[in-house]
Amino acid sequence: MPGEPQDDCLFCKIVAGQIPATIVRETDTTVAFRDINPQAPTHILVIPKVHYENAAALAAEAPQAAADVLRETQVIADEEKLEAYRTVFNTGAGVGQTVWHAHAHILGGRGMQWPPG
Ligand code: AMP
Ligand code: ZN
Repeated sequence: MPGEPQDDCLFCKIVAGQIPATIVRETDTTVAFRDINPQAPTHILVIPKVHYENAAALAAEAPQAAADVLRETQVIADEEKLEAYRTVFNTGAGVGQTVWHAHAHILGGRGMQWPPG
């Protein structure tokens, strides 16, 4: 079933508590935790509890959960006192997606270049 937990999905296992993570916030529909390989002083991932392989699929199939993820990025940025931050959804291996469960990266705490590398 679309949205159902996948046995082979790392982030579904974090949602289920089967793999430890440094969780910073949890809601009925989302979990946010610190990235294990941080690319900035603050690097947090916000994921929906439902499983979709990327942000666009999540928005198409579960728009409320997609909105919840976006709202959480702002709440967490405020909690982390980030004046400026970058929200990234990697879609596709060609731009670095490695986990096929939709997730927003919140990156902050340092200056960044634009365009991105
Ligand atoms: P992406 O490359 O956009 O698919 O992002 C996946 C992110 O998940 C990477 O930044 C990884 O460092 C991060 N990651 C992988 N495994 C874990 C884990 N067990 N706990 C926290 N973050 C993880
Ligand atoms: Zn998953």
